[in-house]
Amino acid sequence: MDKKEAEELKKRLFNQKENGWKSKSEEEKSNILEYAKGYMNYMNCSKTEREIVASSKKIAEQNGFQNIANCQELKAGDKVYYINREKSMYLAIIGEEPIENGLNIIGAHADSPRLDLKPNPLYEDTEFAYFKTHYYGGIKKYQWTTIPLAIHGVIVKTNGEKINICIGEDLEDPIFTITDLLPHLAQDQMKKKATEVIDGEDLNLLIGSIPFEADVSEKVKLNILHILNEKYGVTEVDLLSSELELVPAMPCRSMGFDNSMIAGYGQDDKICVYSSLTALMNIENPKRTAVCIISDKEEIGSMGNTGMESHVFDTFVSELLNKIGVNRPNLLEKVFCNSKMLSADVDAALDPIYSSVSERNNSSYLGRGIGLNKYTGARGKSGASDANAEFVAEVRKILEQNHIAYQIAELGKVDVGGGGTIAYILANKGIDVIDCGVPVLSMHSPYEVTSKLDLYEAYRAYEAFWRS
Ligand code: MN
Ligand code: MN
Repeated sequence: MDKKEAEELKKRLFNQKENGWKSKSEEEKSNILEYAKGYMNYMNCSKTEREIVASSKKIAEQNGFQNIANCQELKAGDKVYYINREKSMYLAIIGEEPIENGLNIIGAHADSPRLDLKPNPLYEDTEFAYFKTHYYGGIKKYQWTTIPLAIHGVIVKTNGEKINICIGEDLEDPIFTITDLLPHLAQDQMKKKATEVIDGEDLNLLIGSIPFEADVSEKVKLNILHILNEKYGVTEVDLLSSELELVPAMPCRSMGFDNSMIAGYGQDDKICVYSSLTALMNIENPKRTAVCIISDKEEIGSMGNTGMESHVFDTFVSELLNKIGVNRPNLLEKVFCNSKMLSADVDAALDPIYSSVSERNNSSYLGRGIGLNKYTGARGKSGASDANAEFVAEVRKILEQNHIAYQIAELGKVDVGGGGTIAYILANKGIDVIDCGVPVLSMHSPYEVTSKLDLYEAYRAYEAFWRS
């Protein structure tokens, strides 16, 4: 066989792993850049799960979705949503096939690693006022000092009044920060392990330094409470019933001379929320009922009544069955056993600076398209939801038929670490599930990096799955 023939044979037999940009036309490239703009806008007004749900509700309503509570009955083509305690959301478009044939579900999560305020956050030390925090999710604590932070969330008073807080995002707003030691005096600190460099109890947010003008103790704390009382009508005790989250006060921005990437906070997993939600907006009259999940609490184990482990999702699907008028005993279980799902969550991309933790044949790469994980887990696949080969083939077929760039990967080398998503929770119901999302650099850091191409391929993949 001559060289040319051998090259041909190689092309036919090898799994061609190619940079996705190479095969994109100029028109496709401009679509990719344009779509990313919409994503960055969405990100810049939604940094917390509550804000994601509010923004997503707006998008859904503009596209004809109605609150399921306002629908007496449902028929093919109807579009509904359900919002669970302002933090998680389910959307559905009723399919033309009988619903017992199963649902096509795509699920992502809206919560991201962050710092929460403690229930009793406010104190004064050496004429500084601080908020004490408790970190949420997997973070490297040292990354959260010396960056601008914004406060987002709610304070709920006993009379039911809910005060929405968002301070630090507008350029006119003040921001907040957590201080760190100067290198000149950090000899001892610099010898510590990275996990101990910043103590969890030292993640204290600096929030003020002017004393109240009166002869009392704790004047700086008093001054802060006076400001909060004037502005929001709250007292210190109202902070007991608040959910205030500290997030990086940095906008999501286009990155690189070639504008090929996006840097921003919380892309795990809001990038999959946006791409799946906007894909759903393109769907009319699907064959199978299309369901979109925006879940909460994934970063801390999916527990609680807004997490994926709660039964609220089952209740939503039961409501669909009731309002379509087909419900009967055990139908819900049957629907789940016939359902298919893409667990839309981000994947760790290979970072050439830290390539020693990745195995090159089984890593996701930025710019090679949507990343699928057949399984996650740690060590001997412990805790993994492992997609069946039959289902992987089905998903591959959809992606290949639609010329969507994709890659199948693992999260790092064997025994180096591991992780999980909401996939296993849905798989436990009998649904065929595979993890399928956008590769990320600096995942879980205050400023994560993704590729615009992968974002766009995820969007196309989700739409194709719902159309299948
Ligand atoms: Mn995630
Ligand atoms: Mn995560």
